[in-house]
Amino acid sequence: MDIQQEMRNEARRLLESGEVKVVIGYEQGSTAFKCTPAFVESSDDVDRLIWSPACTNNLATYLPQEAKEARAAIVAKGCDVRSIIMMIQEKQVDRSNVHIIGVPCAGVVEATALESGDFRLDDIRGISWDGGKFAVQTVSGNHSLDRNAVVKSACKTCGYPVPTQADTMIGGEEAAQISATSESGFAMPESMEERRAYWAKQFEKCTRCYACRQACPGCFCKECFIDRIVPRWAAKRAGASDAWMFHITRAMHNAGRCSQCGECSRACPVGIPVHELAREIERHVAELFDYTSGMEFGGDPALGTFKAEDPDPSHG
Ligand code: SF4
Ligand code: SF4
Ligand code: SF4
Repeated sequence: MDIQQEMRNEARRLLESGEVKVVIGYEQGSTAFKCTPAFVESSDDVDRLIWSPACTNNLATYLPQEAKEARAAIVAKGCDVRSIIMMIQEKQVDRSNVHIIGVPCAGVVEATALESGDFRLDDIRGISWDGGKFAVQTVSGNHSLDRNAVVKSACKTCGYPVPTQADTMIGGEEAAQISATSESGFAMPESMEERRAYWAKQFEKCTRCYACRQACPGCFCKECFIDRIVPRWAAKRAGASDAWMFHITRAMHNAGRCSQCGECSRACPVGIPVHELAREIERHVAELFDYTSGMEFGGDPALGTFKAEDPDPSHG
């Protein structure tokens, strides 16, 4: 049985038994290569749910709202599960109100990457993974593209494509064939000067639309510091120095919470690799506190606890 059918069967079972009020998953978007979040509340509607390489959103962002009053099931890839665990640890979601439907993930595609293909986007009728290759079915025939040419940037370095935790794990056969990847086209500049120059150039492009923040499950503050009037942390107008303030503060607030889902970078309309900044912070959190976000339900978040022997690099 394929993953999509397994997912629909499990959604039907959960809704008919009354175990959950809603199943959060994906449904077909405006084209054959786009998906959109779906909120299925009746077993009559489970056939809306789909599974495809276009299922890119990290649906964990919807949990605080959907699992507040009643129990919700959520379709979750490896990175999404880590975000869900983080949100439970951070007390944004009650564990007893969540049923995780874990799905193994071979990577999700950047819709914009398909523009480089040898076909018209309007002609695409379907997309799928075919072994390690990305298959595109069009009106004029089938095409095969390299994985790294089309996957979301974060998927190139994904360490946990198969969910580490789930209440129901589906796609067992596919999971056995998926392994973590490590190729990245991105290299953080070595020296401080080069880093500053690199990110200054990136932040010059930032329009402060906050799409990256909205897409991120780690950004759950009821009022973001950047929106506050008193105290005012940054001017309302777009500008490089205020963009620095926003990005560096967001990165620090998110330390120990990032699952490397890459949704912040995908959401950015001007192509700033926001998740690479978060990845660098997570690298430091792992080094300093031996902590990787979203691995276990129990325990405290890295920055939500304090031990006298914790390292403090600022004091040598
Ligand atoms: S980061 Fe990993 S789990 Fe998340 S979408 Fe990419 S490959 Fe899948
Ligand atoms: S910072 Fe970016 S990569 Fe990390 S959890 Fe948030 S959206 Fe995902
Ligand atoms: S999505 Fe891009 S442009 Fe918008 S605030 Fe984030 S980094 Fe800036």
